[in-house]
Amino acid sequence: MRIVSACLLGVKCNFEGKNWKNPKLLEEFLSGDLFPVCPEVMGGLSVPRVPAEIQGGSGLAVLKGKAKVVNEKGVDVTDEFVKGAFEVLRLAKLVGAKEALLTEKSPSCGCGETYDGSFSNRTVEGDGVACALLKTNGIHVTCVKTSKM
Ligand code: SF4
Repeated sequence: MRIVSACLLGVKCNFEGKNWKNPKLLEEFLSGDLFPVCPEVMGGLSVPRVPAEIQGGSGLAVLKGKAKVVNEKGVDVTDEFVKGAFEVLRLAKLVGAKEALLTEKSPSCGCGETYDGSFSNRTVEGDGVACALLKTNGIHVTCVKTSKM
């Protein structure tokens, strides 16, 4: 079993209430191999929601208490992002997942790069909070390119 960002399967759970459906992954889901998760919703955030970005470091730094996640209105949503990441990890362990397929750039799921915290569409190297937590717990992460639906 692998876990997958729910928005990649067509679930309209991103901040705008949209998804990044990937037809190939949807086929794999229908064959029963994928378990969908959305760390931001699982952390208690709504759909739609004010977009948020990591400020002061990467998702790993957030987990270490050295950076935070702030939404575009200036509200600190770090607790929700950390809670959602641990909920994803809990479910990954529950279903025995050794691999995760995650979206790019998200402050939660983003693998390899995230937006830089300035809300100006610029990116920096680093993982989102949930991605970082999964990696530090031995789960292999594969990054999936997105196209908004
Ligand atoms: S990228 Fe991750 S946190 Fe964002 S909507 Fe998709 S599953 Fe949810």
